Amino acid sequence: MPLLSCMVTNCVYNKDELCSKGDIKVGGRDAKVADETCCDSFRDRADSPVINSMTSGCGCSSIRVDCEACSCKFNEDEKCTAREISIDGPCADRCEDTVCESFRCR
Ligand code: SF4
Repeated sequence: MPLLSCMVTNCVYNKDELCSKGDIKVGGRDAKVADETCCDSFRDRADSPVINSMTSGCGCSSIRVDCEACSCKFNEDEKCTAREISIDGPCADRCEDTVCESFRCR
C-alpha cells in the first residue's frame, strides 16, 4: 500500500495531511496527465458534519488506493503500486479540484 500524503486539508478525511479514511479511489480513466486524475473519495468538510464527527482518529500514512487511471505506470489491475503518492488540491470544493500528483504516464 502506498504511503499517502494529502494536501487537501478541507477534506473531511484529512488529518494532519494524512488520510483517515483507510482506502481511497482515484479517478481519471482516460488520464494522460496528472491534472486529469482526481481523488473520488474527497468529501468537503463543510458539507459533511456527520462524517466529520466520525473521523476524529489519527490519519494513516499507508492506505489502499484503488485507481482508474490505467495509463499510469504505477497502476496494476486498477490498484496503485507506487511506494508513495501525493494528492493535491488545497482549495478543493469537489473531487474534480483534486489531483494525484504522482501520476506518471507509461
Ligand atoms: S500514482 Fe498512478 S496508479 Fe497511483 S493513485 Fe496516482 S494515478 Fe493512480
